[in-house]
Amino acid sequence: MPVSAIVGANWGDEGKGKMTDVLARHSDFVIRYQGGNNAGHTIINDYGKFALHLLPSGVFYPHTTNILGPGVALNIPSFLGELDDLIARGVPKPSLYISERAQVVLPYHLLLDEYEEERLGDRKYGSTKSGIAPFYSDKYLKIGVQVADLFHEGRLRDRIERALTVKNLLFEHLYQKPVMSLEQIAPALMEAGDQIAQYVCDTSSLLHNALKEEKKILVEGQLGALRDPDHGIYPYPTSSSTLAGFASIGAGIPPHSITQVVAVAKAYSSCVGAGPFVSEIFDREAEELRERGGDAGEYGATTGRPRRMGWFDAVATRYGCRMQGATAVALTLLDVLGYLDEIPVCTAYEIDGEKTHKFPVPALLDRATPVLEKLPGWRRDISSIRRFSDLPANAQNYVKHIEDWLEVPVKWVSVGPRREDIIELP
Ligand code: GDP
Repeated sequence: MPVSAIVGANWGDEGKGKMTDVLARHSDFVIRYQGGNNAGHTIINDYGKFALHLLPSGVFYPHTTNILGPGVALNIPSFLGELDDLIARGVPKPSLYISERAQVVLPYHLLLDEYEEERLGDRKYGSTKSGIAPFYSDKYLKIGVQVADLFHEGRLRDRIERALTVKNLLFEHLYQKPVMSLEQIAPALMEAGDQIAQYVCDTSSLLHNALKEEKKILVEGQLGALRDPDHGIYPYPTSSSTLAGFASIGAGIPPHSITQVVAVAKAYSSCVGAGPFVSEIFDREAEELRERGGDAGEYGATTGRPRRMGWFDAVATRYGCRMQGATAVALTLLDVLGYLDEIPVCTAYEIDGEKTHKFPVPALLDRATPVLEKLPGWRRDISSIRRFSDLPANAQNYVKHIEDWLEVPVKWVSVGPRREDIIELP
């Protein structure tokens, strides 16, 4: 049975959580394959409203097995807290596994993230301070700690001791902060290991068997294509690949098993943190869209920060879909635009006096200004509509224009934050 990937076509916050929740209804497995608790997926269902950070979006279905793959940054207290919160709010305990190869976010990753943003001052990246950049740096420096290491005390202590030699030099001399000791870290980590032991397993073998048994599998990306370290808005990406192409590595499944890639694209734009954002709008225009956006305004699900707002960016979103290898698009938040007489859309960039439809390298992106076109609005509430043909003609027209720009079929249109606010196109 083919695997489907649900990934972001933009800067994140496209509504992937909602789409995964919708599509997980028919899935046996939902897997997170990258990132950590640094972003949130908002899900509104019969149990209430949830902001999931680390847990896969299939946790609300009793028939779904949820997996945190080897590519994930596992913050153990955050994982346990999220799970406790879910159960406290009446959700049945989900079936959940953590890859024994996933790596663990360590106390000094959190501190390094915080101290570095403090040191950078005005030049900071707008990190969520969840330790993600130091975590992935250590992973590729080969001084990280795998979940399996938590169950081998000698190895764990040795790995932390080696890493601390370097970290403490930074703490003391670069940041002028207190140093950390092995005893501050290792015993607590062993204890954390005991707390998650029941979830830890060889998830790659589990998925190998699931594929053999033709189970339905969804892999769920965090953030969006433009936050990919290679293909995004460097140096403002996240620190792990947000692309569907990485899902096979981060989840531990064969690349050819992923045959459907659903790129979730927003009907307008939003962006959290620093970095170039060509179709950005400001002041009252931005405030109005921000307040009307999302399920309760466009504010970060993890940080509560107001999101930067912009009009739909056809240049960036087409590029995002292409980099994701999208086979279908889920266009979300269309309902939000119902207040406008005319809807501006960025259809090209102008760079140094030249018009382009190509998404440029970051060195040129800073110089890009948006070329805007206006499409007629529909000025009504569409959130209760369930058939594409029942949408006002101008809303259908808006979707069709986006489909033409993206060169990928739009298969779903989301018209509200709840599970049932969805239109599936024929
Ligand atoms: P994710 O990280 O991609 O899952 O996105 P977030 O959860 O951070 O942000 C999406 C926001 O939009 C959340 O507040 C969702 O509840 C909300 N949302 C998702 N789809 C729709 C939609 O079609 N219409 C409206 N009005 N809100 C939506």
